[in-house]
Amino acid sequence: MTGQLSKYVKSFTLWELLKGLSLTGRYFVKRGGTIHYPEEKTPQSHRFRGLHALRRYPNGEERCIACKLCEAVCPALAITIDSEERADGTRRTTRYDIDLFKCIYCGFCEEACPVDSIVETRVLEYHFENRGEQIMTKDKLLAIGDKYEQQIAADRAADADFR
Ligand code: SF4
Ligand code: SF4
Repeated sequence: MTGQLSKYVKSFTLWELLKGLSLTGRYFVKRGGTIHYPEEKTPQSHRFRGLHALRRYPNGEERCIACKLCEAVCPALAITIDSEERADGTRRTTRYDIDLFKCIYCGFCEEACPVDSIVETRVLEYHFENRGEQIMTKDKLLAIGDKYEQQIAADRAADADFR
């Protein structure tokens, strides 16, 4: 009997409607969870896998020794390497291309690299306007490495602490 009475009272006072409206009102004044990109950015992991880069040693020498492990491990066949022996007996690449239209950003290339040469940076904002620009050549990759070396080195150090 009490249950029936309370049901009628709730029905006449539009209780459920008021309950719903109070919830709507609470969320109306609460700060939203929407990120207003690009003015606002979400936090990034130091392991973020973005645009690729080739690194150099502090003396300017390129790290890559043309072992081709990255080319062999790449599941998307996105990497193409040609190499030759230099006068000092070391081996270096004469061509190092990554086709970003094929790349699936799996990170296998950086995992496989024995000298920490090919890496994926935190850079995610890039685009192409002309056919062929998606091929990242050795020069482009080295330039990205030079530009972001500080961040790359800091991320590698953070990763070492993490392991
Ligand atoms: S991230 Fe993966 S798919 Fe892309 S180049 Fe490296 S190994 Fe290939
Ligand atoms: S980037 Fe690393 S894995 Fe790839 S060829 Fe150079 S040294 Fe070898």
